[in-house]
Amino acid sequence: MPALPASLRAELLALLGPEYFIEGGESLATLSQDYNWYSPVLKPQLEALRADAIARPGSVDELRALVAASFRAGVALTARGGGTGNYGQCVPLHGGVVVDLTRLTRLHSVGGGVVRAEPGVRLGTIEVAARAAGWELRCMPSTWMKATLGGFFCGGSGGIGGIRWGGISSEDNVKSVTLLTCEAEPRLLRFEERAAIPSLRTYGTTGFMVEIEMRLAPAIAYEQLAFSSPDWEALLAWNDTVARDGVWRKRQVAQFQWPIPSYFKPLKKYFRDGEHVGFLLVDRAQGSAAIASAQAAGLACVFQQPLTDPPKSPLLSDYTWNHTTLWAIKSDPGITYLQSGFGPNFREQFAALERRFPGEILLHLEWLASDPKRTVGPDASPEAIIVCGIPLVRYRDEARLNAITTYCTEIGIGLNNPHTVHIENTGRQQNMASKLELKAEADPRGLLNPGKMRTYPVNPFTVSSP
Ligand SMILES: Cc1cc2nc3c(=O)[nH]c(=O)nc-3n(C[C@H](O)[C@H](O)[C@H](O)COP(=O)(O)OP(=O)(O)OC[C@H]3O[C@@H](n4cnc5c(N)ncnc54)[C@H](O)[C@@H]3O)c2cc1C
Repeated sequence: MPALPASLRAELLALLGPEYFIEGGESLATLSQDYNWYSPVLKPQLEALRADAIARPGSVDELRALVAASFRAGVALTARGGGTGNYGQCVPLHGGVVVDLTRLTRLHSVGGGVVRAEPGVRLGTIEVAARAAGWELRCMPSTWMKATLGGFFCGGSGGIGGIRWGGISSEDNVKSVTLLTCEAEPRLLRFEERAAIPSLRTYGTTGFMVEIEMRLAPAIAYEQLAFSSPDWEALLAWNDTVARDGVWRKRQVAQFQWPIPSYFKPLKKYFRDGEHVGFLLVDRAQGSAAIASAQAAGLACVFQQPLTDPPKSPLLSDYTWNHTTLWAIKSDPGITYLQSGFGPNFREQFAALERRFPGEILLHLEWLASDPKRTVGPDASPEAIIVCGIPLVRYRDEARLNAITTYCTEIGIGLNNPHTVHIENTGRQQNMASKLELKAEADPRGLLNPGKMRTYPVNPFTVSSP
């Protein structure tokens, strides 16, 4: 892997100082990696990869100078936020400089239904500030304490709150995005409303996000509830009804097939051996009604605690979305995962999977709004909610994993492939043409996170591509 040109090294050292320009040691290794080790396919491809240096700019002006100098030297630049991505999004495939943006933490404003901030602000900081002002994040990953706003917009998709608001690119969740281009004289490009969508989930290949405006929701005081049953179908029927009924003001509905609840070690005391568990985050004013309804359906309420401000453990959200996978891998390193969207015939799809791969797949379901406009109020429609999830797979080998994904596709289960570094292969290809167009404008020399946008024709480093 090429070392940095001496002139660039000297320039960046002078710009940032030795504290914020890291060239070796454990920090270089840590800041070159993310949570790609979740994937038994990606781990062997990525674990040895390192940046030549880590740069930690403290302002947009420093970032601009860093980008201009690196552009002149033709060196690869890979943006990094909290480093919690699962697909090696911020792992540099071709060395160069990893640009850690966690010092860009100016929270310009929170209120009036919008947060405007620099990219390095943690989502947890925004959530706490928003709630203090009567608002909350519309959607956030289960890593919200550690993940940054920029990392969420460039590498994430959605999560908690998704049952009401969908993901980052749904509805009008994004208000604006400002990108810094990678050119001799980097420019700021500002995109508003739907025009900002192509810049989302591009893994830092289409410029550095330097300012983001995201819409907020009015804050709700939530009750955290967990329900248990030995009867999978009884729990599923109740969760599905609650998820689709716009009357319930909720932030999360999830369901875990036994033995997944046994992996949640800190919560284990609340759960019953052999029973499946559902989680519900619902308006506290509706908590008693939700418990009564669940009990009438034969479910036991095994956990009830308010979500406090500021949030205090245990937080049920720490066990949902891809946190479920983390807890599972901690208990059984032989487990990996899929990301799936089930059809209206989800029950048949679950049964078909079990018939074809008995005991190999454990269901972890999450309900999500596919059309946030129709999840509440007079226009609410049960069809506006879909069953998706992050099923766990007892991993044998890549061929078997491919057989499972092929079968899922055959029976109509939509998959987002979490075992690839390429944006195009994740299954979210809807607007690749606009992403490529944006990249051509923001990164003409292909220096930004090279190799991740596979179909971009310019990659000066292709020879050493993994
Ligand atoms: C336990 C666990 C649970 C998770 N749950 C969820 C979940 O519920 N929902 C979800 O969507 N994801 C989830 N993830 C993935 C990840 O945590 C989120 O997507 C998170 O939002 C990423 O933020 P980050 O700051 O860590 O980004 P990073 O991992 O640092 O970066 C992600 C991508 O964005 C790019 N990037 C970062 N900042 C910028 C910037 N300013 N400009 C341009 N590019 C930039 C990076 O180059 C990289 O490609 C989970 C991961 C783990 C480990």
